Amino acid sequence: MLPRITRRVFSDLAIWMLLMGVLVGLSFPPFALLLGVSAERAISMRFFLSCITAGLLVGGMSYWLACSVIQPRIRLVADGMSGVMQRIGEASRKGALPQCKSEVCSLPVDSTDTIGDCARAFNDLVKALSTAFDAERAFRSFNSALARHLEFETLCSDALRLLLSHTGACSGAVVLEQSGELVTVTSHAFPGAEHLPSNDHLRESVRLGTTTLVSLPKGLWVDAIATTLRPREVLVLPVDHNEVAFGAVVLASTQCFSPEVRRRTELLRQGLGMALNNARTHDNLQRIAALDPLTELYNRRFGEARLREEFERAERENTSLSVIMFDIDHFKKVNDTHGHIAGDKVLNRVARAVKRTFRKGDVLVRFGGEEFLAILPGAAEQDGLEVAERLRRRIKDLEIRDKESVIRVTISLGIASTEQMSIERVAELVDCADQALYKAKETGRDRVIRYSRLRRQAA
Ligand code: GH3
Ligand code: MG
Ligand code: MG
Repeated sequence: MLPRITRRVFSDLAIWMLLMGVLVGLSFPPFALLLGVSAERAISMRFFLSCITAGLLVGGMSYWLACSVIQPRIRLVADGMSGVMQRIGEASRKGALPQCKSEVCSLPVDSTDTIGDCARAFNDLVKALSTAFDAERAFRSFNSALARHLEFETLCSDALRLLLSHTGACSGAVVLEQSGELVTVTSHAFPGAEHLPSNDHLRESVRLGTTTLVSLPKGLWVDAIATTLRPREVLVLPVDHNEVAFGAVVLASTQCFSPEVRRRTELLRQGLGMALNNARTHDNLQRIAALDPLTELYNRRFGEARLREEFERAERENTSLSVIMFDIDHFKKVNDTHGHIAGDKVLNRVARAVKRTFRKGDVLVRFGGEEFLAILPGAAEQDGLEVAERLRRRIKDLEIRDKESVIRVTISLGIASTEQMSIERVAELVDCADQALYKAKETGRDRVIRYSRLRRQAA
């Protein structure tokens, strides 16, 4: 490469070309002698100056030609680059760089020389930028969408929906560890998703904390991982926190996952692990806040909130709602005879029996020391009465072993229902059940009293 003279390439070119002209002018007289021009003419100042002038003219012409042919092409590339950069700037401000079409955001490559190479390299750079921007945008939108939820189930289904849209997968499922077991929490268009926790690929992926890509031959009906789907590829992404995997996301696609999609999915996977871990912690904290530790029934605060909800729902949907208030009879005596620890054990065993007696949708609350409330949504008084009787018998038959002794207790129960009464406030319903319970205590304990019966007797 020739040494730089100025800071402008075309000024250098002009200087080199004029120097070339002078050199040509200087070397022309000896050639003229060789060609038979007389020495008198060839070595005259006039001839010499003419040669140099001609040389300078040729140099100037060459410079002009170079400027006319090369400079506009370079200017075109430079203008193109700044135009593209300007459009990229606008697009990224609007957050739409991924939609920046190639005709707008790339330069035409119309030559096979260095200038063409420049345009090609620039286009590659824009493409790389666009991909990086796209990935970063996906990561940000994915994380901010997940940050909106702390409820575990909502979070899982939202995360799956977003992952499906980001990867173009047609179906997927989220499988997570719950109480030490893998469970399918949510799925989309994934037949047999409930069997995923026992799938070998998935278990291995969770165990090793590594992403697994299962490629399947065309047209194969896959039994093990997606029963009636015909996926080309199944991606199993472990979900981890602090490098400990606690589940996996399975994505099935009818096309192969591109390397770019896989890279992006890997990025999103990290955000997902963090969000799910936060949700798990929140879920646990919520459980701790809602449950009474001794009986693992809902505590009074949570129970009252649930009762209000159920009461409003019953009013809105015009369905019945029954509550049973019950209390262990002579519990003080249990404490006095067997001690407080034994008393706690009795409370715990009674609560267990209570849980076994009621339906899944019923809400069971430790209302006070040895006083409980069962909320039975949709239950008429008669249904409530049957459950209450069943519970009374079950507790009566319960044998609680403590050291050498067997402790037996009975309970008294009061039941009230929205069915036959015009109860307008939720507190009234609890109060009615309480009055019925009081009557049960008063009339000999170990019995169920209906508030409606009490009212009729009073009338
Ligand atoms: P009644 O049949 O009228 O209900 O008589 P009772 O003895 O059950 O009722 P009372 O209200 O006189 O006594 C309730 C006892 O329950 C007194 C209290 O020490 C005991 N208790 C309340 N909470 C707990 C608890 O968490 N653990 C234990 N061991 N005892 C408790
Ligand atoms: Mg009691
Ligand atoms: Mg009591």
